[in-house]
Order: sequence, then C-alpha cells, then structure tokens
Amino acid sequence: MNPERLARIRQMLALRQPDLTVCMEEVNKSHNLAALIRTCDAVGIPEVHAVWPRRMRMHTHAAKGSHYWVKVERHETIHEAVGQLRQQGMQILATHLSERAVDFRDIDYTRPTAILFGAEKHGISAEALALADQDIIIPMVGMAQSLNVSVAGALILYEAQRQRQLVGRYAQSCQLPRVEQDRLLFERGY
Ligand code: SAM
Repeated sequence: MNPERLARIRQMLALRQPDLTVCMEEVNKSHNLAALIRTCDAVGIPEVHAVWPRRMRMHTHAAKGSHYWVKVERHETIHEAVGQLRQQGMQILATHLSERAVDFRDIDYTRPTAILFGAEKHGISAEALALADQDIIIPMVGMAQSLNVSVAGALILYEAQRQRQLVGRYAQSCQLPRVEQDRLLFERGY
C-alpha cells in the first residue's frame, strides 16, 4: 500500500474514541443509517450498534466509504445491545422528546457513553427508554416536532466531540494504542 495512505489511515485510527458509541434501534431507512455512520466516522467512533432483527441494508453510497472504518455490531434485541454496552461501563442516553429529557448540551460526554437513536416514525421503544440512564433532547421551538435522526445524531455527536476535544481526548497522549490500531487494520484486511 502507498505509504502516505497508510500514514493517513494510522492517523485516523489513532484518534478513534472507543468509549463513545451510538445504538440505532430499528433505524430502518438505509440512507439515515448511512448518514449516521458517516458522522460517527467523522467524530472518530470505531464501532456502532444496531438493533435490527432482520437483514440490514445500508445505502453505502451515502456512507461515502466511512462504513469500511466503522464496525456495525448487530443485535437481535435492545436488551442484548444495552447489556453489552453496560458491560463496557457506558452511560446510556436515550434521545427522546419527553418531559423528563435534559438538554443534550448539559451531558458530560467525556464519560464512556452510548447514545440511543430511534426510528423515523415511532422513535425509541418503551423498552429502550426503561433501560436508559437519561433521556436527552435537542430543544425544538419550530413547528416540526422532531429532527431527522441523522441530523439529531450529528448535533449530539459534535457536542460530544467538542467536549472531548476540550479535555484533550484527541491529543497525542490519548491516542489509541498501536496494538489496537494494528488489530483494526488487520480486521479491515490491511
Ligand atoms: N415520532 C417520533 C418520536 O416521537 O420520537 C419521532 C422520531 S424522530 C423523527 C427520529 C429519531 O431522531 C428519534 O427517535 C431520536 O432518536 C432523534 N431525534 C429527532 N429529533 C430529536 C430531538 N429534538 N431531540 C432528541 N432526539 C431527537
């Protein structure tokens, strides 16, 4: 492989944030799935979770290649997904337009964090809400009740990225260990 490309990939892998992730609960529109994955790649998320009992389809054109670098772990149920995330010590945040939801900018995303997103029509299930630690909301003052899921994802993930950048989580000293970078390269066939 061209050494410049390898250096570019290593630089990208070094800035990955393995303790930040999203879990998409039956986000059924393939272009939304692809757009969310593209944003995850942009903020350095190496692995995302999808609760999807059927075969998943993704609009790979809309992902613009980011799907090669963001692993999608599929789960049959939300219990299975949240169970795995809890084992990794993550706080579980449910994006949900409820009375008890707190403004997404008031959350500490420097903690290990998993953010749950729901489907365009029904949002997050009651089961998922019961498993989460906290509902979070992007304030809305217009006529539309909600944002498109990929837009909501971009806003929240860039707030997480901003907070992590402020505390130096994208700095040299916090980079993903070389052995972990090698594993990711190997998994992608490099
Ligand atoms: N009718 C659905 C509901 O009541 O939840 C709307 C779903 S919305 C189109 C799709 C997903 O985008 C939501 O499940 C949530 O993950 C996210 N979302 C959209 N707007 C949001 C907002 N203002 N605050 C938090 N999450 C939002």
